[in-house]
Amino acid sequence: MLFNNPPLTLALQKEGDNRMAYVGRFAPSPTGPLHFGSLLTAVASYCDAKAQQGQWLVRVEDTDIPRIYPGSEQHILQCLEAFQLYPDAEIIFQKDRLALYETVIEQLHAIGQVYACACTRKMLGSNHIYAGTCRDLGLAFEHQAIRVKVQDQRICFQDRLQGLHCCNLKQDLGDFVLKRRDGIINYQLAVVVDDYLQGITHVVRGADLLDNTERQIWLAQLLGYPTLSYMHLPLAMNDQGQKLSKQNLAKALDPKQAPELLQQALHALHQPEVDIDRPEIMLQQAVAQWNTDLIPHCIELEGHYL
Ligand code: GLU
Repeated sequence: MLFNNPPLTLALQKEGDNRMAYVGRFAPSPTGPLHFGSLLTAVASYCDAKAQQGQWLVRVEDTDIPRIYPGSEQHILQCLEAFQLYPDAEIIFQKDRLALYETVIEQLHAIGQVYACACTRKMLGSNHIYAGTCRDLGLAFEHQAIRVKVQDQRICFQDRLQGLHCCNLKQDLGDFVLKRRDGIINYQLAVVVDDYLQGITHVVRGADLLDNTERQIWLAQLLGYPTLSYMHLPLAMNDQGQKLSKQNLAKALDPKQAPELLQQALHALHQPEVDIDRPEIMLQQAVAQWNTDLIPHCIELEGHYL
C-alpha cells in the first residue's frame, strides 16, 4: 500500500532532514488584521513550543489572493514584532512557493490520486458531498479544478485538547479540491506540504480548523509524510456568539497595547497570571508556567471578546 512507501517528495526534503522533537508554527492568513482570536493561537503555539524546548516558526498563508485584505499582512507582522514573538527561522510566504505545490500535485497525479474536475458550483448545487462525477472521465488538467481521491474509511486522530476526532472523508465530504479552477492552490494542500517541508511536528491552532484535520492527515498519508500532533484551541467568541473574525468585525489589535493584550490572552487560555512587563519577559514567564491541562477542553471559550 501507498502508506508504507518512502515520502514521495524526497526531492523537496529539507537538507539533511534531521527532524527535531518539536517544531511548532503560527500560520496566519492575511485575510484581515490580527485580532484577539489569532493572538490566542500565536501565543499558545509559541508557549507550547518553547515549553518543550522546541522551535517556533511563522508562515504567512497567502495563496488565496482574492481574500487577501490590504494591509493585513503588515499588521500581523507588526503585531508579532510588538509582542516580541520572534520566530526561530525566516518567515515564509506561501505565494512564493506555488511551484512546490504544483510539483506535489504532479506527484499525486503520477500515482493516480488526483483528477481534473469540470463541475461548476452551479452543477454541485447545495450538495456538500462530492459524488465523484468527474473521477473516471480522464479530463485534461488545464483550467480545471483538481481533486484528490478519498476512500470509504474512518480517519481518526487524538487531539491533545479535543480528544478523539474522526471522519469518513468519502461519506462526509467526497473527493476534495486541491487546486481551484482559477488556479488558486487550496489551503489543505499548501498547509500539508509546508508543515512537512518546514519539519513541523506539532500543530496548535483554533478549533475552527478541527474538521479540516482528517483531510490533511489523508493527504499527508498519501504523500508519505510523518503524522503530526494536533492541539485545537477553544475559540474566542464575541457577544453575538460568533467566533472572532474579520467578517464579524473583530477589533484589530493595537500593537501599543501588547503587554495588556498578552496578559488577557494568557488569562483567556486559563494560564497562571503573568505580571505586566516587556512582552519578552512576560513570554518567558508564560513559558515557564505553561500548562495545557488548564486550557478548557472545549470548542468555545466562555465569556465575550472583541
Ligand atoms: N491559515 C489558517 C488560518 O489563518 C491557519 C492554518 C493552520 O494553522 O493550519 O486560519
